[in-house]
Order: sequence, then structure tokens, then C-alpha cells
Amino acid sequence: DSYLIPKYTFDKFIEGDCNRLGRAAGMAVANKPGLTSFNPLMIYGGVGLGKTHLIQAIGNEIKNQFPDKFVLYVSTEKFTNQFVNAIRNNSIETFTNFYLQVDVLIIDDVQFLSGKEKTQETFFNIFNHLHQSGKQIILSSDRAPRDLAGMEDRLLSRFKWGLTADLQQPDFETRIAIIQKKLQDDGIQINFDVLEYLAHSIQTNVRELEGVIISLMAQASLTRKEIDLELAKSTLKSIVNDQEKELSVDNILEAITSHFDVDMELLTGKCRKKETVFPRQVAMYMLKELTNLPLKSIGYHFGGRDHSTVIHAVQSISEAMETDKSVEKTVRKLFNRFNIALN
Ligand code: ADP
Ligand code: MG
Repeated sequence: DSYLIPKYTFDKFIEGDCNRLGRAAGMAVANKPGLTSFNPLMIYGGVGLGKTHLIQAIGNEIKNQFPDKFVLYVSTEKFTNQFVNAIRNNSIETFTNFYLQVDVLIIDDVQFLSGKEKTQETFFNIFNHLHQSGKQIILSSDRAPRDLAGMEDRLLSRFKWGLTADLQQPDFETRIAIIQKKLQDDGIQINFDVLEYLAHSIQTNVRELEGVIISLMAQASLTRKEIDLELAKSTLKSIVNDQEKELSVDNILEAITSHFDVDMELLTGKCRKKETVFPRQVAMYMLKELTNLPLKSIGYHFGGRDHSTVIHAVQSISEAMETDKSVEKTVRKLFNRFNIALN
């Protein structure tokens, strides 16, 4: 079993500026697995932007064109669990040998290898062996290789051997196209004003966009109404109100990216531009104030920055809140998203 999901195809993966390079590279790899210089192909980007869809589509396309090839999709979590079990059962050789038979290895969410030295070591060996034998390796990660903390340098340098392509938030036109395609697949037509409204209102990621469309279709069929602007507005409103305001690192970072309209990549990366540094400092401040995370762990989420950077950020924001009303207001708003009042 290759663990490929048939519905994830290139055909269903709408192209836009946000994913053009990754999509094209993926197609190239699918046409000539192991034979292009895109080996490994590393796709990275924030949550819900289509990483799993795209790397699965590559796998499915390879299966189409080369039915004899052994294509294997595995999440990093599963890979790690299998490895841990292999240690326990004294069957590491069997584990490794299994992976060495693969023609196309697709590993999803490699950021979860971070801090797992033994798993990394074994993956490194498998990687080298497959690569030397001209086998194709496809990886995904939620951040760029340079921002992956807790990863061995030799493994990181392997990740950069081939091609690294990022998926970004879809722009307005791409969001329109994605919504249209999803509705079309269900045989539903909607007016452009509704489309436009949806594309304007949901700017976070494709998964969320999909969620809203599904609710909308459900609402329409329950109430036997057409999908019009009114229904779109009321559906969206009820979704927003229902959303859990659970305090988690992800949710806090998401709140920051959507409030400041900054990319997750940039936020958690090394960019020193003012438009990024300020949101990043606010993010660190919020994580410090709203979670029990140690400073070191907070730094980890921002490309492995050390605790003194976090302390500095927290101090800067505390001071700015006292001297600048607009900063205070911003932080208050962000706290409100989690139903927490700023004291
Ligand atoms: P990630 O792995 O990056 O978190 P997924 O691949 O799970 O994201 O994508 C989330 C959802 O959005 C999936 O249902 C996927 O089919 C859809 N999706 C993402 N990008 C696109 C796209 N460009 N066109 C169509 N659907 C997309
Ligand atoms: Mg995924």
C-alpha cells in the first residue's frame, strides 16, 4: 500500500502565483522521477496551503505514468513511530531494508524530525542510499530548511541539494478559482458577488476556505436555499463565532499573521524588516504572557532564536505598550481573540 489518496491530483490543485514553482517542479518530478535535478524536491509552507495535496498529487501522477514504481507516502510521524517500534523489536534492519526498496519516497512534515537524533540518523542513511541509487525523494515541511531548528546540519544540507519551493497564501484571484473549482465539482453555481465576498473574507489558508464552502453547501441544502450573499454572510458569521479560541502556539501565531497580514514563513523566519520584526516581537510577547512555554521554546518557534532575543522582544513590547496607545490597542485586540482581557 502506498498510502496515496486518489482525490489529491494535479487536476484539482489550482495553480496561482502562490504555488507556481512548486506545482511546476512537482510536475517535472512526476514526469521523470529521480531523473531531474529536483532531488530531493522540498515543498514548504504554512498550514493548510496545500503541501500534502501537492506531494500526494506527485505520487499519484507517478503511479499513473509508471505503475511499476514503488511509490510510498509516509508522514514523518508515522516514520518516527515505525522506527521507534523497530528499535523496541530489534528489527531496525527490516525497517531500513523496507525503505531501501522504495522508488519514490514522499515524506510529509519533516519538521517533526526536529530534535529526534536517532530517527534523523536513520533517515539520513536511507536518504543517502536512495539518492545514490537515483531514487526520487519528495519532502514537505512547514518552514524553509534554513529555519528548521533541531535538525542536524548534514541532513539540512541534503534537503537543499535539489529544489526547494514554497507555497504561499493564495492571492485573491487564486482564491476565487479555488472556490469556483470546489463548487463546480459539486455541480453548484454561485453569483460573482458571493464568490467575491468569500474570497475577500477568508484570507488565511485553503483549508479554511474549503471548510467554509462545505458549511455553506450544507446550509444551503438544509434550508433549501440558494447560496446567495445573505446565506454566505450568515454562515461565515456563525463559523467565526464558533471558532474555538483555544490558546495554542499555532493559534497565537495564526492570529498574528492574520492581524498583521504577514506570512508565517516571514514571521517565524530570519527576516529583519520592520514590517516583520514588530509582529514577531508581539508574537513572542503573547507567547510569553499567554502560555507557560519557557523562553527557549518560544525562541524555537522563531527559527531557534535564543532566550535573550525573546526577553528583548518582550521588553520592547511592554515598553511600547506604555508609550504608544496604538501598540496597546493592537495587543488588546489580539488578546481579545482568545477572550482574554489585557489588564
Ligand atoms: P497542508 O498540508 O499544507 O497543511 P493540505 O494539502 O492539507 O495543506 O491542504 C488543505 C486543503 O486545501 C486540502 O483539502 C487541499 O485539497 C486544499 N488545497 C490546498 N491548496 C489547493 C489548491 N492550490 N487548489 C485546490 N485545493 C487546494
Ligand atoms: Mg499536510
